[in-house]
Parts: sequence; structure tokens; C-alpha cells
Amino acid sequence: MGVAVNLQPQREPEPCTEHKRLAKRFADATRGYSDAVAQLAKHRGTTSELDYYKLRLLVDDAREDSETAALALERHISKHGC
Ligand SMILES: [Zn+2]
Repeated sequence: MGVAVNLQPQREPEPCTEHKRLAKRFADATRGYSDAVAQLAKHRGTTSELDYYKLRLLVDDAREDSETAALALERHISKHGC
């Protein structure tokens, strides 16, 4: 108990700038996607068919965005090891 340990991660290297950029993009895209889904749920049944359709397109776009971002991050990690 109470033994001071070095909390610095030893094995994993600090993510590089590109990794951070991709991770941020992924986080942003994921947030955008859940926002769009929330909007869709909120307006379900209370909005015109056209508006609902537009919202669904937004959700699809946002999902594609986050999938692309996830893929780019995964690819970077496997290629770069960080
Ligand atoms: Zn990297």
C-alpha cells in the first residue's frame, strides 16, 4: 500500500501527431453520428416526411464518416504501430 509507482506507460509509445489527428477526427465523427441519431429519434413522428428523410440522410452521412475515420485510424495503428 502506498508505494509510489511510475504511472507512465512503459510499453506503448506516445501517439504521433497523425494518430492524434485521426483519433480526434474519429471522436468528432462519432459525436456527429450520435447527434444525428438523437435528432432523428427526437423528430420521429413529429416532422414531415421530407424533413425526416433529410435527417436520415444526415445520419447515413455521419455513420459513413465515422466508419471512414475508424478505418483510417485502424490502418494507421497497424501500419505505424502507435
Ligand atoms: Zn503514428
